[in-house]
Amino acid sequence: MPGIYIHIPFCKQACHYCDFHFSTVLKSKGDLSSPGSILQTIYFGGGTPSLLSGDEIKNILTVIRKNFTVEDKAEITLEANPDDLTREKLESLRLGGVNRLSIGIQSFDDEDLKWMNRAHSAAQAIESVKLSQEAGFDNITIDLIYGTPLLTDEQWKINFSTAFDLNVQHLSCYALTVEPRTALAHAIAKKNQAGVEDGKQAKHFGILMEMAARNGFEQYEISNFARGGLYSKHNSSYWLGEKYLGVGPSSHSFNGESRQWNIRNNNEYIRIINEGKIPAETEILTEQNKFNEYVMVSLRTMWGCDLEKISKDYGTDVAETFFRQAKKKIETGLMIQQNQNFILSEKGKFFADRIAADFFVV
Ligand code: SF4
Repeated sequence: MPGIYIHIPFCKQACHYCDFHFSTVLKSKGDLSSPGSILQTIYFGGGTPSLLSGDEIKNILTVIRKNFTVEDKAEITLEANPDDLTREKLESLRLGGVNRLSIGIQSFDDEDLKWMNRAHSAAQAIESVKLSQEAGFDNITIDLIYGTPLLTDEQWKINFSTAFDLNVQHLSCYALTVEPRTALAHAIAKKNQAGVEDGKQAKHFGILMEMAARNGFEQYEISNFARGGLYSKHNSSYWLGEKYLGVGPSSHSFNGESRQWNIRNNNEYIRIINEGKIPAETEILTEQNKFNEYVMVSLRTMWGCDLEKISKDYGTDVAETFFRQAKKKIETGLMIQQNQNFILSEKGKFFADRIAADFFVV
């Protein structure tokens, strides 16, 4: 199993757009540390993993090392919010074994950050990257969100340039989505908030692709950009269909044949684990599920869909149907063929989900 994902389900405050599983009640934070294969990646996601102390992270890593062999050069990523990254915290994270930081900056504009209900300012965001670099982190990714109502085209360009000037190795950039049952969805429903404009999001995505290419960032996945080949090994293994184990409330696992979801409730998760059971539901994937997932995920990457793999894993009939449909997409300029691989063109990247759905076996 190449990777392990640890979900830390706590946050200081709730961002208005967020649909992840987290609790702002931190009192059970210490009760969630819990337990082979060789691991190439370890990923602390959330929630807000940087709410844990360096010692708490170190304890979790010690438990992982007791139960698995961890490769010497394993990528160990921790998602962090700028307001948590003090000099001391960074030092303890580095000594604890973390070697890659994913900083949830989202915007370098204070108005935009306030609108999202983020807990940090633009100045703190910049400072957090500089402090991380001073502490010795040389593999840093930052998250940015575009298409928010207050974000002008000009500010979006400034956000990108600021990230570029900070010399980060990797960017994850997402269009704002309105998830049901979030504060943002309620505000839009009550007409207290403008909805998301598709045209603006598409424009920001275009600006992003153009600026990324101009500044030497490779778009290796539709929302992910890397310099110097520093792709996220952990996320790439998801996209390449490798196995992973998810630990913590709401995390997912995949073993090649089935997918498993842990429950999204911290207290219940702890109670069931303490009874020696696994608090999860499992779905066995059909061949159809696997093919659709393969197309949906790989089409978003620069490696695209591999016709030989489709033929080998799903049969020649499925491969022939795929090839016929792909040819039509190529004729309309939405896809490109590179040897046996079919990838999205620049134009196609604007419609990735819709294009993938056209290939689904139903
Ligand atoms: S976006 Fe991140 S910090 Fe904000 S509520 Fe969601 S998980 Fe917590």
